[in-house]
Amino acid sequence: AKALGKGIVVTFDPSMRKDFERRGRLETNLKHALTNGDIFPFYQPQMDIRNGQLVGFEALARWKHSELGWIGPNEFIPIAETSSQIVELGRCILTTACVDAMAFPDNIRVSVNLSVGQMLRDDVIGMVTGILASTGFPAHRLTLEVTESVMMSEPELATRILNGLKDLGISIALDDFGTGYSALSYLRQFDWDELKIDKSFVDDLGDDPRALSIVESVVDLATELGMKVVAEGVETGAQHEILRKSGCHIAQGYLLGRPQPIDQVHLTLLKSLAE
Ligand code: C2E
Ligand code: CA
Ligand code: CA
Ligand code: CA
Repeated sequence: AKALGKGIVVTFDPSMRKDFERRGRLETNLKHALTNGDIFPFYQPQMDIRNGQLVGFEALARWKHSELGWIGPNEFIPIAETSSQIVELGRCILTTACVDAMAFPDNIRVSVNLSVGQMLRDDVIGMVTGILASTGFPAHRLTLEVTESVMMSEPELATRILNGLKDLGISIALDDFGTGYSALSYLRQFDWDELKIDKSFVDDLGDDPRALSIVESVVDLATELGMKVVAEGVETGAQHEILRKSGCHIAQGYLLGRPQPIDQVHLTLLKSLAE
């Protein structure tokens, strides 16, 4: 504890200080990590909920730090956002995902997360067009996932950009559905191709009848609006069964497969072909 005169005392918690130092270190290392290829996607399988067929993968960024080991996106994406390196990070993940996915069978899709900072700061349409052209990955097999927060600060600009991306033939998913404030109004503002029900709802399925009612209504509404419904964070057979009965289309979660490195993806693909 340190006295700042006049009875004001600020306490420095040693663990807070450690967090602060780690954050500073990651921020400093980020640029080098990006150019060095230390940040790249893992892939989590997405399955058709009716027949269990593999339909695609979501690319999820991972940082393999030479000294600190594996670091998850919840830690470094916010750092990239504030230090404006999110544009480069987004370009890097999308490029690798498209290159990797060129080796997938042509019925397998790939989803990539797009952050708000990246979308509103950069010429995303130009970037995506360039990456599709240079990798040769077909736009109709790519989904970009955005959260509703993208609609909050500059809804008109956001809608214009999302429509431009759709014009390229890309699908657009509304991610983390149900965690924000006025989710329903965002359903009206844009013709989303896909809706991802957040894990927090999926977690409560099975023991909370209210969560079940909400999920059933959301699936009906989204289906009515022509959207595909993906449930994220499916961990149990019971959740899977409830979601299937609710009419949900696609399931993603530890029950079906963890995010995995690209060499393991090739094994998953072989297995799915053998089934
Ligand atoms: P998200 O887009 O909602 O991704 C789903 C997260 O849930 C992933 O965490 C995934 O590993 C985790 N997950 C999937 N199934 C299960 C499950 O059954 N149980 C549990 N407990 N967790 C599950 P991850 O990979 O740590 O990513 C966290 C968030 O970081 C993502 O949430 C996304 O918002 C962001 N993110 C990840 N990669 C990127 C990226 O390349 N760009 C941007 N802008 N954001 C990214
Ligand atoms: Ca996502
Ligand atoms: Ca989520
Ligand atoms: Ca549609």
